[in-house]
Amino acid sequence: MLVQPSVARRLGELARRRAPREVGGVLLGSQRPRAPRIDSYVELRNIADGGSAFRADPRELRSWIYPSGRSPSLAVGFFHSHPAAPARPSSLDSRAAACGYWHGIIGQSGDLRLFVRERPGTPLRDLDVRSEPELAE
Ligand SMILES: [Zn+2]
Repeated sequence: MLVQPSVARRLGELARRRAPREVGGVLLGSQRPRAPRIDSYVELRNIADGGSAFRADPRELRSWIYPSGRSPSLAVGFFHSHPAAPARPSSLDSRAAACGYWHGIIGQSGDLRLFVRERPGTPLRDLDVRSEPELAE
């Protein structure tokens, strides 16, 4: 799993800017088995009361899961922040995480960790997040 370093850094900065509210959105990239990677993200509006949790507008979310002409990319995962907790899934995160998607959590220190549930009924697995050097333009 490769995460562009600029993406990991910007997600940490975004989480810090939105604190104490949780922030969340979709992760974009590729789930090709030989080259899984995250290249960018899109922040989604948090419609949870008070912002102490993250809940996306289902219609907004759907447009990234079932893209039409307006959204060019397919979501490979989702992310949200834990402004006052480490980057570990809460029990709600563990119950709610959909199979086959990557679930990114940004902890209070700005670190990004990724988790995946490979099959229904199995626990979330911690993915090794390796950043790769960015290509010079
Ligand atoms: Zn959480």
